[in-house]
Amino acid sequence: WLMLSTPLNFLGFAYREIKQGVTDIETMFELLGQAPEVTDAPGAKPLEVREGRVTFDNVQFHYDPQRPILKGLSFDVPAGRTVAIVGPSGAGKSTVSRLLYRFYDVQGGRVLIDGQDVRAVTQTSLRAAIGMVPQDTVLFNDTIRYNIRYGRWDAADAEVEEAARLAQIDGFIRLMPKGYDTEVGERGLKLSGGEKQRVAIARTILKAPPILVLDEATSALDSYTEMEIQGALERVSKGRTTLVIAHRLSTVVDADEILVIDKGVVAERGTHQALLDRGGLYAGMWNRQREADEARELLKRSEEGA
Ligand code: ATP
Repeated sequence: WLMLSTPLNFLGFAYREIKQGVTDIETMFELLGQAPEVTDAPGAKPLEVREGRVTFDNVQFHYDPQRPILKGLSFDVPAGRTVAIVGPSGAGKSTVSRLLYRFYDVQGGRVLIDGQDVRAVTQTSLRAAIGMVPQDTVLFNDTIRYNIRYGRWDAADAEVEEAARLAQIDGFIRLMPKGYDTEVGERGLKLSGGEKQRVAIARTILKAPPILVLDEATSALDSYTEMEIQGALERVSKGRTTLVIAHRLSTVVDADEILVIDKGVVAERGTHQALLDRGGLYAGMWNRQREADEARELLKRSEEGA
C-alpha cells in the first residue's frame, strides 16, 4: 500500500475530490464563490487568431501574495503542436489553463495568443477561440443530442452525430432505444466519467476551436476506456494548438514537448524519451506511476482470481 499511496499523493489524487462533480471551469469558480475578477479593457478588440500560437512569457502569478504559484513561467506552444504540463500536485498546472482562459490576470509577464495579450482582447472572442475538455463534464437534464449540440447550437443533426462518432460515443448512444433522444443527467440516464468525457470531446469537435485545453482525467479509467478516450482526444487535437494538463502521465508520451512545473518554474522540458533519459523529476514520476499501475493491475488480477 505504501507503494500505491506515495505516487498517488504525489500526483494529487486527493485534491481531485473537491473537483468531483464539477462540470467545467466556470462552474468551479461559481462553486468556489469566486467571481472571476477580470473585465474587458476599454476598447478591447476581438482576438484575431491567425495560426493559434500560445506563448507564456515570464508569467508570474499568485492567488495569495504570501504564496507565489508561478515565478516566471515561459513556454511556447507553436501552432498546431501539443505541449503537456506535468508536475507535482499543486504545482500550478490547472492555473496555467485558467490564465490562458483569463479567469485571472497575471501579476507579471504576459500570456499571448498569436502575439496578442489576452488582457487586450474581448473575453468573448478569447473564450470562443479556446475549447476546454474538462476532467468532469456537467450534463444538462436534457437529451444527449442537446448535450452534444451545446458545443455549437446551429449544428445540424448529422454534424452532432458525426462529432459523436469521432468522439467514440456514437455506438453507445445508438444502443439505447431512444438513441440521441435519450434523456441524460440527474433525472435521466447517468453516464460514467469516461462517457461524459466523450460527450465533452464531441462538444469540442463541434465547436472546432483553434486552441484546445485538455484537462486530463485523473481517476483511473479502465484501460479500454482510457484507450478509447485517448483515440478521441488524438483526433480532436490533430492540427490544433493543444495544451494538455496532465495529472496522469499516460497521455503525455506523444506530446511535442513536456514541461515539468515545479516550485513555480519550468524545472525540466523535453520529449518523453529525452526526459526519461535525463533521469530527473519526470523520470521519477513516470517510474512511480508505472509501479502504481502495475500494483493496481496485480491487485485486480488477484481479486479476479479469488
Ligand atoms: P493538481 O494536479 O493537484 O490538480 P495543479 O498543479 O493543477 O494541481 P493548481 O490547481 O494550479 O495545481 O493550484 C496551484 C496551487 O494554487 C495549489 O496549491 C492550490 O491550492 C492553489 N489554488 C488553486 N486555486 C486557488 C484559488 N482559487 N485560491 C487560492 N489558492 C488556489
